[in-house]
Amino acid sequence: MKLSELNTGDKGVIVRVLGHGGFRKRIMEMGFVRGQEVEVLLNAPLQDPVKYKLMGYEVSLRHHEAEQIEVVSGDAAGQIEPYVIEKGHEDDFLQHAALRERRTLHVALVGNPNCGKTSLFNYTSGAHAHVGNYSGVTVDATEARASMFGYEFVLTDLPGTYSLSCYSPEELYVRKHLSEQMPDVVINVIDASNLERNLYLTTQLVDMNMRMVSALNMYDEFERRGDTVNLETLSSLFGMPMIPTSFKSGEGVKELFKAVIQVYEGKHQQARHLHINYGHEIENGIAHIQKYLKADEHISQHYSTRYLSIKLLEHDSDVLQYIGQHMADEHKAEERQQLLAARDAAATRVKEETGQDAETAIMDAKYGFINGALREAEYQTGRKEDTYRTTHMIDRVLSNKFLGFPIFFLLLYIMFETTFSLGQYPMDWIDAFVEWIGEKVSATMSEGPLRSLIVDGAIAGVGSVIVFLPQILILYFFISLMEDSGYMARAAFIMDKIMHKMGLHGKSFIPLIMGFGCNVPAVMATRTIESRRSRLITMLILPFMSCSARLPIYIMITGTFFAVEYRSWVMLSLYVVGIAMSVIVSKLFATFVVKGQDTPFVMELPPYRWPTAKAIGRHTWEKGKEYLKKMGGVILVASVIVWALGYFPHDESLSEPQQQEQSYIGRMGKTIEPVFAPQGFNWKLDVSLIAGVGAKEIVASSIGVLYEGQDMTEDVTPLAAYCYLLFVLLYFPCIATIVAIKHETNSWRWSLFAAGYTTFVAWCVSALVYQIGSLFM
Ligand code: GDP
Ligand code: MG
Repeated sequence: MKLSELNTGDKGVIVRVLGHGGFRKRIMEMGFVRGQEVEVLLNAPLQDPVKYKLMGYEVSLRHHEAEQIEVVSGDAAGQIEPYVIEKGHEDDFLQHAALRERRTLHVALVGNPNCGKTSLFNYTSGAHAHVGNYSGVTVDATEARASMFGYEFVLTDLPGTYSLSCYSPEELYVRKHLSEQMPDVVINVIDASNLERNLYLTTQLVDMNMRMVSALNMYDEFERRGDTVNLETLSSLFGMPMIPTSFKSGEGVKELFKAVIQVYEGKHQQARHLHINYGHEIENGIAHIQKYLKADEHISQHYSTRYLSIKLLEHDSDVLQYIGQHMADEHKAEERQQLLAARDAAATRVKEETGQDAETAIMDAKYGFINGALREAEYQTGRKEDTYRTTHMIDRVLSNKFLGFPIFFLLLYIMFETTFSLGQYPMDWIDAFVEWIGEKVSATMSEGPLRSLIVDGAIAGVGSVIVFLPQILILYFFISLMEDSGYMARAAFIMDKIMHKMGLHGKSFIPLIMGFGCNVPAVMATRTIESRRSRLITMLILPFMSCSARLPIYIMITGTFFAVEYRSWVMLSLYVVGIAMSVIVSKLFATFVVKGQDTPFVMELPPYRWPTAKAIGRHTWEKGKEYLKKMGGVILVASVIVWALGYFPHDESLSEPQQQEQSYIGRMGKTIEPVFAPQGFNWKLDVSLIAGVGAKEIVASSIGVLYEGQDMTEDVTPLAAYCYLLFVLLYFPCIATIVAIKHETNSWRWSLFAAGYTTFVAWCVSALVYQIGSLFM
């Protein structure tokens, strides 16, 4: 019975807490856990809240909350086994009854038609329900009991369905049963000889946040055909035990129910709640809709809000009706409208991005998940028919053992080559344009601090950076193209083994590639990595990916110090050093710093598709926008500060270099010069490094300002210059990246750690190279 049904003065023992997610957790945190005794202090009709005594404390619950708690009452217990009660031992008896009640499990059998649900049902319960090779005509559930391992199972044989949408009475029936009866555990019966299609329903059950065990039935057929799959991997990827069974012979049934008990008792290692990743757009939509659903107490208590959001995005008429009814009230009209507006906005966006309606996009994502999981679990089959034939055919080439890597590196080469060669043209135009503006402003303004501020500070600083915008956009265009077409997911897949050797995950690879553009969106892109550990390590090593903000300084220094034929080698060496450092460091971190186990997760392999122009445009722009924001903010401010520190205190009578040396920035540089003595840097280089903390582009613009009209080669050796590049490559990423890491890890500790250790590594590497190099030169 329900806790809400107990009268004032009654006692009961809690058997289970129903309800969902946050609600359920909160109730349990209040102490309403299995086996706990509750006494009703005051439950007046029509009065809310109700007062209870629990663990010696007084707590109150709302009436509808108490409805979600199942208890055994003293009365009911007395009726069951009156002879056990002895005077003075009523309480023990109550506990005893509760324990027995608790050992009764409601188990629902869910699966496609003809997967063997009824066979299992009959086998375990000794019933004789009709088994047969046909699709059910009556939409009905049969119930039977079975005992095993000291537990009592109430089994429900539900009608077979391929999906949990709302198109057939069977589907609606199963859904209604699951959400209203809330079975303790769902046994998802799967026809193992048709894994891919059967797992589709599984993904929907995952969305509903059911406690689940899978029976991979017809395993005899599966083996006979010579199919193979790594069950261990598949189970952990789906977050539920998958037990091979054959209900014809009864093989595996014992293991199946053992797993059911373990899952119910929360003791199964592989059982965990997971979210299928629907990709950036849909996930945003879900999160947005969820916000409105979570605000509604009734809804969030009865359903998984994530599930409802997904269903709303799918335009599920049944859920829509439920929301409509529930929010029919006058005072909820506004909320309902907001909710539906959020849904429509998300759906429109998905449509624009993928060219598909949300329902199809979600379905594709589900198959992407299944496809990825099966690939990882090395599923092999001699099957002929194939739903995603084109995709699988392309995959055979693109992620082929031998062809995969060459193709991938070829694509990367094309990407970088195009970025830098094609990007050169608009870069030159912007450069010329910035120069032109500077001249125009100079001509119209009169000599003085203000003109110097605008021309030498703001325009020169921002200008030296904005020239890289075209290259950034081209790079992001390629990345978006690879992401949206589905290729990036394959790249992650083939890189997975190598990434694992570094203590990372295949999915880490995408943010790392993006890091070559700008570290900030790359840090944000780590969100797709479900394992906290891999994600953290990925963020920590990201700064070693030489972002395009470092290019200006590379170009400036290599152009000044090295002959033309060596320049690209010098540049290339920097990229290689960055990658090598990231490999070494991530390995170290995985072993010593960020310890712990990884939770396995699926690398989705969505079907290939032609990306829409709109989606590519938008994704390119979204990433590029971060870069522009940085320019308007940090870089502008930093440029002005560097300018001011170099301009003041101002003495007209001094020459330019003398003025600099006696300015604030000059004094600062002189003070820290000893720190960089082992690297052979001079004070101007040191100061630029400090300025570059704001953004690495500023290193170049600062050197530009400090060496205005002077020859750098006079007081810097080529060796020191190269070490300087190494330092710029490795040290403190930039404020924007550190803030992004703080934002994503939710911890200043990790973000400051990232800032600190990179600088330390940079100092050591550059000092080492300089000292060793000096021996030979
Ligand atoms: P339901 O529609 O899910 O209830 O499936 P049924 O229990 O009616 O089974 C459909 C057909 O599959 C029947 O002919 C069963 O005999 C057969 N079947 C069930 N389990 C197995 C199994 O493990 N192996 C084989 N080879 N056949 C099975
Ligand atoms: Mg049946």
